[in-house]
Amino acid sequence: MSKNMRRDERKQAKKSLAPPIFQTATFTFDNSDDLEAFHSSETDAFFYTRYGNPTNEAAERRLALMEGAEASLLYASGMAAVSSVFLSLLAPNARIVIPQESYRHTRDIAEGLLKRYGVCVDILAENTAESLETLTDGTVRVLFAEIPSNPTLRIPDIDRMAEWARQRRARFIVDSTIATPALFRPLEHGADLALQSATKYIGGHNDVVAGAVSGSSNIIDALREQQALLGSILGPQDAFLVERGLKTLELRVQRISATALKLAEFLEGHPKVSRVHYPGLESHSDHQRAVQYMSAFGGIVSFELDGNDGIADELVNALQIPVLAPGFGGTESQLEHHVKMAYADIGIEGAENRGISAGLIRYSVGLEDFEVLRDDLSEGLKKL
Ligand code: PLP
Repeated sequence: MSKNMRRDERKQAKKSLAPPIFQTATFTFDNSDDLEAFHSSETDAFFYTRYGNPTNEAAERRLALMEGAEASLLYASGMAAVSSVFLSLLAPNARIVIPQESYRHTRDIAEGLLKRYGVCVDILAENTAESLETLTDGTVRVLFAEIPSNPTLRIPDIDRMAEWARQRRARFIVDSTIATPALFRPLEHGADLALQSATKYIGGHNDVVAGAVSGSSNIIDALREQQALLGSILGPQDAFLVERGLKTLELRVQRISATALKLAEFLEGHPKVSRVHYPGLESHSDHQRAVQYMSAFGGIVSFELDGNDGIADELVNALQIPVLAPGFGGTESQLEHHVKMAYADIGIEGAENRGISAGLIRYSVGLEDFEVLRDDLSEGLKKL
């Protein structure tokens, strides 16, 4: 399926090229016949924005094309997408398998909310098909994976995990927020759903919070019905921003990935850096899988420094270009001292219990020139 839009797929109201923003809560009917025609599906009219909106539909169409999916659905945030998918596919006594290194709030939902509703949760120590074989229970309903994982950028064995799930009739959900459909399309590898925080590379400019799910029409239709009840829709203005972000996604992600690889190589050769996590490096434990699955390696480089406990803070303070802010995937380079941002509420010990090193810095590469970012890092590291 082509990712490029044909002219006839661009249809918008009033022949507008950009999707108009339908900033309306509700839609009107001329008379009772018009309403009747709507209810008997004789028109493609809209009813009420919680059930659907043309701006959202335009963004969803473009995303589905890029994912190679029958359909896509936008949500109010990545977490709204994650929690809605879990609530839709799971029930009391059903089992979900989720890797240890998953986005922490995805794990929090599983271990908090889902357990409270009687769902059984298995945490997979390693993100591999081999470790799945240690699970014998046949009641698994959902297998979850992230590609790459956050923050050490592990690459799961997607094909074998998909086969494992298929044999058990479990749904396989892949959160490809960091890869994006520009670098990896989970549905082509047997996933039932591809899911992203569209807040990150898809929106791409740190000006929208959104989530997205793509898959077969059957599953997406069911999620859409559920969304109309749960109310976790994305507002039309934000859907417009998501659609606009998708137009340049591939260009941005390719450019960011090329810069990230060069920065990772620079950091790996630096004497003050003890470890670099980047799947494009041969030293990364999942490099072969990254080459197998991804067309480039993404925009996040995580690294650790040689030195005392405060050294990560020293570097964060010494750098002049990247902003210090939670999140990733925007046009500006962005830094997280991971345990102090993503895990601030559970502290360093809590983070280390979840396998996150206290000194880990997560560097989200932006669109700045490589040389500028490298020189900034070089100067910053010199000061340590
Ligand atoms: N999935 C991954 C891999 C993430 O990194 C994040 C957020 O950082 C989310 C989901 C949640 O997305 P949001 O912040 O849009 O709710």
